[in-house]
Amino acid sequence: MRALITGGCGFIGSHLAEALLARGDQVTVVDDLSTGRFENIQSLVDHPSFQFAIETIANETVMDRLVSECDIIYHLAAAVGVELIVHDPVRVIETNIKGCETILRIGARYRKKVMLASTSEVYGKSDKVPFAEDDDRVLGPTTRSRWSYACSKAMDEFLAFAYAKQLALPLVVMRFFNTVGPRQTGRYGMVVPRFVQQALRDEPLTVYGDGQQSRCFTYVGDVIKAVISLTDEPRATGRVFNIGSTEEVTIEELARRIICLAGSRSEIVNIPYDQAYEEGFEDMRRRVPDIRAIQALVGWQPETDLDGTLRQVITHVSSEMAL
Ligand code: UDP
Repeated sequence: MRALITGGCGFIGSHLAEALLARGDQVTVVDDLSTGRFENIQSLVDHPSFQFAIETIANETVMDRLVSECDIIYHLAAAVGVELIVHDPVRVIETNIKGCETILRIGARYRKKVMLASTSEVYGKSDKVPFAEDDDRVLGPTTRSRWSYACSKAMDEFLAFAYAKQLALPLVVMRFFNTVGPRQTGRYGMVVPRFVQQALRDEPLTVYGDGQQSRCFTYVGDVIKAVISLTDEPRATGRVFNIGSTEEVTIEELARRIICLAGSRSEIVNIPYDQAYEEGFEDMRRRVPDIRAIQALVGWQPETDLDGTLRQVITHVSSEMAL
């Protein structure tokens, strides 16, 4: 297979590139390095089946050629991270909607299979536990920029299903739930790399709100296995799947575990949301995936538990800090 990965220099994209090369695929990565990092693909550049283009997916001429030359597009390029969403909402909305529209339109032009990376954010602040793919979504007002990310990704999903319906685009949508692992950066707000860095420096771990909000952190290697199983499975085409661990942890407990696993002397400090993000910021209390759909179709389930994942992140961040 000839795979095109948009956002391939990002955290998840670079792990996907590695896994596809390892199984013998040809891989082309396109990334504008806005949040991705070239170092993430540095070890792949000499691989005979690997190519990259440092380019924005908004460049239609380049994208037309790259799409025409591949068999499948993994569309991972997007503006991510709660901090970016709060501080640069124009960029988030435009990148997510316009970029995805370009990929879908060109994908449909050549009738190439598209895997669309979406997010558990689309469920919004619904208090249902767990979230199943067909559940209703509950979003806050348009005056709170946090919800623009959920809306932009939901719009991408709507558009993808519209292309599938009207232009027979072969499509599979995957909603990732808090994917973590080596190479994820804390720069855009993601909690695990942030806490790990704070712990390794013996600085206070900044728990936002009361710390009783919970998440299910999923090891990136497990996510990549899910992505590959679903794109290989013809019966997944035209559907949407949750991909996530079901091991739920509160953010306060996460902070405690990281301090313990890192052998850190850090303390925990609570910071109000208004101070951490912006006035009136709304968070999700719980976010747990229902993974019966993916389990039933391809038998996937997460293999790495939270402690195993955190140990890998601690090792990775400490080796980066030593450089
Ligand atoms: N969070 C925190 N301290 C930080 C960064 C994040 O307590 O330094 C919290 C954040 O408010 C949220 C959770 O950790 O409740 C997960 O945040 P992240 O941005 O990683 O992902 P989200 O699930 O919000 O998309």
